[in-house]
Amino acid sequence: MVLFSEDHTRETFRRGRVEVICGSMFSGKTEELIRRLKRATFAKQHVEIFKPAIDTRYSEAEVVSHDNNSIKSTPVDASASILLFSSEIDVVGIDEAQFFDEGLVEVCNELANRGVRVIIAGLDMDYKGIPFGPIPALCAIADEVTKVHAICVKCGDLAYISHRTVANNKRVLLGEKEEYEPLCRNCYQKAIKGERKHNLSENQTNAELK
Ligand SMILES: [Zn+2]
Repeated sequence: MVLFSEDHTRETFRRGRVEVICGSMFSGKTEELIRRLKRATFAKQHVEIFKPAIDTRYSEAEVVSHDNNSIKSTPVDASASILLFSSEIDVVGIDEAQFFDEGLVEVCNELANRGVRVIIAGLDMDYKGIPFGPIPALCAIADEVTKVHAICVKCGDLAYISHRTVANNKRVLLGEKEEYEPLCRNCYQKAIKGERKHNLSENQTNAELK
């Protein structure tokens, strides 16, 4: 099975385009982003990488994936700042794009129209299965979308969601490994049904105690 097209072998040919790499946590999004950016670097392209200032999990100035394969990046507060930093650049990489504002869609279009190759990595959905930030719109305007998958920790099938294993309703919870597990659609349905039952019986017990 061929997962990624080798269309990116023509690294030296300058053409504006938008590529989106999306999927759940642990799906290898950042690894794939780094792979494409490193190839562009080998082809002597000017590469610049941005990430939202909110994501300070491991290191302030680097895009770091879980296998410690890292590449230098610039943290920015808002998507509009990417335009300011992107003159004379051939390839722009954007990691954790789900945390950016909706303006990112326009920024990526603008860059691609100027002839820049834009490669975006981000979470497609939050832990409840709701499409995340500007990612759905970015998929719509992209020339190419690659959906990557983690493996379901319960059954080994392809995972589709990052299930949160701790009780917390905040949408953004950084720090991953302990708080999330990749699950397929079936195992996710079973997991949330189990949680609902658990919450119901807990409420019942609380009511009985009163
Ligand atoms: Zn499963």
